[in-house]
Amino acid sequence: MERTAKKCKQCGREIYFDGICVSCQTKHERKRILALSQEEIDTSIQQICNEIEKTGDLDQESDLFKQLLDYRDINTSKIAKAAFEKNLFYPCELYKDAPDYIIESMMDILKKDSADPQLAGALLLCLAVCGGEKVYPFFLDLERHPRSWRKKLYVNPSFYATYGGWSYDSNGRFMKTNFDKCYPMALGTLEEKKRSPVKIGVKTGEKCSQCGLGLVNLMEIDGTDPRLDFLELNGVVKAKCCPNCMIYSDNYFCRYTLDGESEIILEEDAVMMEDDLKDAGLEELTSNSYILGDQPVAPRYASDWEGGSSVGGFAFWIQDCDIRLCPDCGKPMKYLAQIQWDTVLSGMEGNAYIEICPDCNMIAMLHQQT
Ligand SMILES: [Zn+2]
Ligand SMILES: [Zn+2]
Ligand SMILES: [Zn+2]
Repeated sequence: MERTAKKCKQCGREIYFDGICVSCQTKHERKRILALSQEEIDTSIQQICNEIEKTGDLDQESDLFKQLLDYRDINTSKIAKAAFEKNLFYPCELYKDAPDYIIESMMDILKKDSADPQLAGALLLCLAVCGGEKVYPFFLDLERHPRSWRKKLYVNPSFYATYGGWSYDSNGRFMKTNFDKCYPMALGTLEEKKRSPVKIGVKTGEKCSQCGLGLVNLMEIDGTDPRLDFLELNGVVKAKCCPNCMIYSDNYFCRYTLDGESEIILEEDAVMMEDDLKDAGLEELTSNSYILGDQPVAPRYASDWEGGSSVGGFAFWIQDCDIRLCPDCGKPMKYLAQIQWDTVLSGMEGNAYIEICPDCNMIAMLHQQT
């Protein structure tokens, strides 16, 4: 059957079914969840617990759980109790507010060499999301004195920890790998964009030495805006890149100064890229009118499909969570921002992620798609 293009009844975007597009559907759902009263939230939490208690699984209500977590940052302690009763350890966010006795019990399982490796991996993720004073030294101990199950896992506990927004360096020093606060990027006007402390896609007038495309500041962040106090940046940070080469490069970094200068650090073996994006793509990317939202949102607000672009909080990792090590100091970097490509470049899949090492004035930029 031929697929005929139709228009979203809400925004006019081209779709291949009757009704409204996925992006508009997500907006509706988000609005609905944001309007729930505390009583309605409690009822929804009970509904989630009921399914887990009845079936030992989270299937029917899994979207509801994700929405409540993302948009309302619900306390999950009741859900964690129900899940632990049924040995349900996925998704790991079920355990965000797990009570101490559950944290202790999960740690007891991991202390044993005999723990099933698959279960161990799941428990590490759950404990990472719990975080806290007991989990951090415990992870460090597991990393320094690996139990037998570690052989079957690919990465160290310090990597699992980044799913909870924290980790530690090679000396075992605790580090946060996420900012606590999150601000969404919202559609404004081009005039408002001029005044916005965060901008996506600003031309620099320079050309990429690899492919010849114009360089852009993928994001400009003016940390002196009071909304962005939580970033603790005393100036303007510009994440400069060639959007074309960045997408294909596995190691794309730039060094910044707080007065708004940035220098791209090219890999020694950087390969010449075709300019896929072309000037038209660059034009589109730099003509968006996204501005920083007025109000902070829940930390995981943008951590799902159609989550949009945001600063701080948790990213939506399309593949694995990918916190880079700073090429200067070797410590884990901190997730700073994400850009949902198709909101600024039509037809472009995936997300761009920006990470920062404030100690070394270093920025990493990476790209993921399905
Ligand atoms: Zn739409
Ligand atoms: Zn390039
Ligand atoms: Zn560093």
